[in-house]
Amino acid sequence: MSKAQLIRITPETGVPLVGTVAFGIIDRGTNVLQVRPITLCPLSCIFCSTDAGPNSRGRLSEYIVDLDYLLEAFYDIARYKGLHKLEAHIDTVGDPLSYPRIVDLVQELASIKGVEVISLQTHGVLLTEHLIDELEAAGLSRINLSIDALDPALARLLSGTRTYDVERIKEIAEYIANSRIDLLLAPVWVPGINDEEMPKIIEYALSIGAGKHWPPLGIQKYEAHKHGRKPYGVRPMSWRKFYSKLREWERRYSVKLVLKPEDFGIHKRRMLPVPFRLGEKVYVDVMLPGWLKREKIGVTRNRAITIINAERVPLGIRMRVRIIRIKDNILMAQPEP
Ligand code: SF4
Repeated sequence: MSKAQLIRITPETGVPLVGTVAFGIIDRGTNVLQVRPITLCPLSCIFCSTDAGPNSRGRLSEYIVDLDYLLEAFYDIARYKGLHKLEAHIDTVGDPLSYPRIVDLVQELASIKGVEVISLQTHGVLLTEHLIDELEAAGLSRINLSIDALDPALARLLSGTRTYDVERIKEIAEYIANSRIDLLLAPVWVPGINDEEMPKIIEYALSIGAGKHWPPLGIQKYEAHKHGRKPYGVRPMSWRKFYSKLREWERRYSVKLVLKPEDFGIHKRRMLPVPFRLGEKVYVDVMLPGWLKREKIGVTRNRAITIINAERVPLGIRMRVRIIRIKDNILMAQPEP
């Protein structure tokens, strides 16, 4: 059972909302901004790339971001990028529906000039018909719903959760498909475990009318992540094999499965400047316990920086670190003597 502590991120904490994968806003240089209000998840999928949920072993902290603080950060970044043709994609390292103010979040994002699409990634166990009605009224455009198997026992196994009921998730999927919210089914294909489920999920998505404005399916390839959960005996397949199988199913079912950014109206857009160089040594204020064990969050130049190998570093100090990784304003550093 995860014993991670829940940390609330408010303006008073002084922790910026750009810089980590765990919370805040991620700008990858397109018209899509990823919005991450919370890290919690009710499931413990056996392939989870972020080791989320009650069975998490690696997480030291979970985070929840104050709504107004998150919206303020989103607006500032959106204004920098240009208030037109923007997508807010709520996709956390857990399940975004764990966020108690998810409806308010969608509604407020929808009221920002230039935000034309609001999408959300979920496994759906927290969805109810009532919540779907509320999200629809709030302006949600699309739900990317992960159903990884239609076989109930296999679906339960994959979810790592005894109470997971795929029949209920199917009811939810059908309810979404009949609403104004578009539905995209996004199974994770874990080779050797749910191979035979993929064609069934494709047929199911087509039968219930998924994908009215966008493609109906976004099959995701299982990848073994350093800090993620790895099902015993599973080896990720090659991208070549993955795409070749998708193309075969595209022909068989006359449906688009090999997806491109253009299929979702995604285009390049100027990215927030990265205020560091790789290898640069900087002083940071150590402000929060890290998401994972052995990490801390340091702050400088209006960015949150994940400091690795920082198990013994106390909170509240100022220390010198070296920037060792920069990817789309996601920053990692290590203590520098
Ligand atoms: S894969 Fe998604 S739903 Fe499953 S445990 Fe991870 S974050 Fe939660």
